Amino acid sequence: MQQGQPMIIMGDDAQRVKDRDAQEYNISAARGVAESVRSTLGPKGMDKMLVDSTGGVTITNDGVTILQTMDIDNPTAEMIVEVAETQEDEAGDGTTSAVAIAGELLKNAQELLEQDIHPTAVIKGFNLASEYAREQVDEVATTVDPDDAATLKSVAETSMTGKGAELDKETLADLVVRAIQGVTVEADDGSHVVDLQNLNIETRTGRAAGESELLSGAVIDKDPVHDDMPTDFESANVLLLNDPIEVEEADVDTAVNVESPDQLQKFLDQEEKQLREKVDRIVDSGADVVFCQKGIDDLAQHYLAKEGILAVRRTKKSDLGFLKNVLGAPIVSDLDSLSADDLATGTITRDEEEGLFYVEGEDAHGVTLLLYGTTDHVVDELERGIEDAIDVVATTVSDGRTLPGGGAIEVELASRLRDYADSVSGREQLAVEAFADSLELIPRVLAENAGLDAIDLLVDLRAAHEAGDTDAGLNVFSGEVENTTEAGVVETAHAKEQAIASAAEAANLVLKIDDIISAGDLSTSGGDDEGGAPAGGMGGMGGMGGAM
Ligand code: ADP
Ligand code: MG
Repeated sequence: MQQGQPMIIMGDDAQRVKDRDAQEYNISAARGVAESVRSTLGPKGMDKMLVDSTGGVTITNDGVTILQTMDIDNPTAEMIVEVAETQEDEAGDGTTSAVAIAGELLKNAQELLEQDIHPTAVIKGFNLASEYAREQVDEVATTVDPDDAATLKSVAETSMTGKGAELDKETLADLVVRAIQGVTVEADDGSHVVDLQNLNIETRTGRAAGESELLSGAVIDKDPVHDDMPTDFESANVLLLNDPIEVEEADVDTAVNVESPDQLQKFLDQEEKQLREKVDRIVDSGADVVFCQKGIDDLAQHYLAKEGILAVRRTKKSDLGFLKNVLGAPIVSDLDSLSADDLATGTITRDEEEGLFYVEGEDAHGVTLLLYGTTDHVVDELERGIEDAIDVVATTVSDGRTLPGGGAIEVELASRLRDYADSVSGREQLAVEAFADSLELIPRVLAENAGLDAIDLLVDLRAAHEAGDTDAGLNVFSGEVENTTEAGVVETAHAKEQAIASAAEAANLVLKIDDIISAGDLSTSGGDDEGGAPAGGMGGMGGMGGAM
């Protein structure tokens, strides 16, 4: 590697890599990471088993989960991880595609650089292509109505395919669509707003995923604090409390100098009085039910039971927040200021067998997806899949556009980009063509992961699109080219636009760097051209690189 310029003074451990070396170093590092997730793409993608430093195991197919768990500490590779994170935040799905495309863009860029094309030309071409491709997404997209449950179900099923949720995807996709429809409201301007704050997922083990259900209101996985409390109420006054019903700390800490049994009794009496007062405030407010985020003293539990009040302690913060939405009640943080206005009306039903409370508000705000899985690992991966599907359906409802999946949209965009490239002058044209090739990575990898002949299929796909069949994509099960929209393989347009934009941005970010000045040692890089993962920071995951 080239040494630093004499003008620059650096510390002993510092290293400097410039120009082509810097680019190659960076591209290899980024590609290594990008390529490590490819094998999980699509319905036939494989899962990865991730073991963290404490021995915790995650089995997943989810791009962003894999990259985050890999604990990458190479700065360039981290840019690729950020692509996945942005994609997850913005669209909730398409993380593997976004990362894989970023990696392929870099691979194709590398070839252009080797032909002595300047990085600025590549970057400019990539920008032009990214913008044009996104415009074309909008051209190709079909509008979808929020009431169109069948299409939304297809969107949910496509997003769940290949994930833990797959086995019961019909039931689960139906639940997801009903859940989203349950929290969608039409705004004054006719647009549809999905309020995911009103949707909660509660996971339980010990039952098959197919038994999952959608419930109106909240599900609280808690027991009453006392056996003698009533558990079922119709139109109860419910209090949400974030204040302990316990003796106040300061009093407990004060050293008590007990010199006589009398004094001890007096002290205990005082404690009792304090607890009694707290319970009386609750009684006086008219509350029938208390969900408390903090603790409840034994004696207070006893008083509350005697008053016929149902009390639950150590309610999860997130559950209390959700109850707030469901009931439309404030969370009271100080018992001293409690008044009847702080209570909301709700119906409480107890499921003794499952140890759950069902809580419904008067105006039926909020829904809970009660998700079952046989074991912890199963239900965790299921939840990730369902969360993605929820995001994707929510995006589809608010965005209102879908695209043909199974690689169809990518082949269509590639074909349109190649036409467009003819109008682009200079070396940028080559970069636009490279961008088109990069998008076709998706159908190629879908085919490869399904053990199909990627080259033949890509030829067939291109031919179908040249003939005007915009929706021609891959049926990874039969190995045939089919109309994927008709087959119900549909994706959300917003996620695709986001994936294209962030892949292009990340690739350009990496390409723009021509000088790496590092305070530490760069020698852990080890990235080679064939997609080997950079050794730095990948811990025990080294073997996952270059899965292609
Ligand atoms: P990502 O993280 O990018 O969402 P996935 O593993 O979910 O990765 O794979 C998504 C890709 O799989 C998309 O290109 C989608 O169109 C494709 N896909 C999903 N279901 C099918 C199917 N039944 N047939 C063909 N392709 C499918
Ligand atoms: Mg997906």
